[in-house]
Amino acid sequence: MRVFDNGRDAALALRPDRPVYGFRPSVLRADAREFMSAFRGTTAYAVKTNDEPVILKTLADAGVRAFDVASPAEFAAAREAAPAASQFYMHPVKAQADIRLALETYGIRSLALDHEDEVAKILRIVRALDLDPSDITLFVRLATKGHAAYELSKKFGAAPSHAVELVERIGRIGFRPGLTFHVGSQVEDLDTYERALATAAWVRSRADAEIAALDIGGGFPARYGHDPKRKAPKPMPPVGDLLGKIHDEIEEWGLDDLPLIAEPGRVIVARSLSVIVRVLLKKGQRVYINDGIWSSLSDAWTGKITLPARLIPDPARRAKRGKSEKLVPFRVMGATCDSVDILSRPFWLPENVDTGDWIEIGHIGAYSLSLRTRFNGFYPDTFVEITTPFEDDETGKEGFATVESRGGMAAE
Ligand SMILES: *Cc1c(COP(=O)(O)O)cnc(C)c1O
Repeated sequence: MRVFDNGRDAALALRPDRPVYGFRPSVLRADAREFMSAFRGTTAYAVKTNDEPVILKTLADAGVRAFDVASPAEFAAAREAAPAASQFYMHPVKAQADIRLALETYGIRSLALDHEDEVAKILRIVRALDLDPSDITLFVRLATKGHAAYELSKKFGAAPSHAVELVERIGRIGFRPGLTFHVGSQVEDLDTYERALATAAWVRSRADAEIAALDIGGGFPARYGHDPKRKAPKPMPPVGDLLGKIHDEIEEWGLDDLPLIAEPGRVIVARSLSVIVRVLLKKGQRVYINDGIWSSLSDAWTGKITLPARLIPDPARRAKRGKSEKLVPFRVMGATCDSVDILSRPFWLPENVDTGDWIEIGHIGAYSLSLRTRFNGFYPDTFVEITTPFEDDETGKEGFATVESRGGMAAE
């Protein structure tokens, strides 16, 4: 991977016509370590957030010793990056063949579920492999309510009284019962965690079985930009503050005697990656770029996430234009030949942006690479390494890229 000081140097050296990802390994290591030092338990990175080998390897080098996985490809990716790490198979609904692979080939001993038929599926395979159930922790996934950019409880989770039954069933068979929840993604409101912890405490107090561990899932918020039309929001507190408050709640609900696990994704990887896109054409207040919702910009469907962006003017054409400091909204057209690939919220960019310029969009590390498609034959896959954190780069005025599209598909 070629190394550059900042996105501008990379763009001017490579003059790329295709999107280029700017990977910042030092930022990734710092964000992973910040989380791990603030969390008093096992940090299991959620592989689905970004499963690029270079990301997983950098996390392993930074000291991540556990991974939250959901599929055979994720078992293999985590094993490749960190052969000795433990894996938590936290998908509540699994294929039989995948359960067998997890238990037999990958030695996975922590699995999640939210229904008795899933217990039966797992038990059949445990018996067939002649494993001892007391070596296996089955985490009952609790349904939660709250405000997240992505709300997932419509899909997974057992209601509290059902969870009590599941815990008791799991305990009677001889498995170790655990409790888990995942409150959604980009959860900025502590109450959501508090309510989930209250539910976990309630289930524990009612269940006639000993709880072996508590997994508080992911959802911790990453830092992004903000829409310049609106009042600047309060700066996001460091993740250590949020985790400190979550630990207080864990104590208050009497859960602090349990071994803890967390499954952060977004908060660890968001800042570690940017994408440098090119303006293929400017038509009035519109810019056509070489990326879009089918490539790197499909996260943030809800419009709640505004990414920071920075214009990198093409010096070859700059002479003709004046300097411009004023940020104006541009409608953004994505790379593919369909009318869905239009971002429904604007990019705020200096008004003299033009055909041939580049835009570096920051903090795209979460749910970007893993959601790329090959639609229309476009598949960005070029990486460079960048040493300066996006927000510390002073080579240009910061703008904002707001991406909102695919009308809430992620929330279904
Ligand atoms: C996606 C997911 C995560 C990671 O969520 P983030 O919001 O990226 O932290 C953690 N746990 C489970 C079960 C998930 O599905």
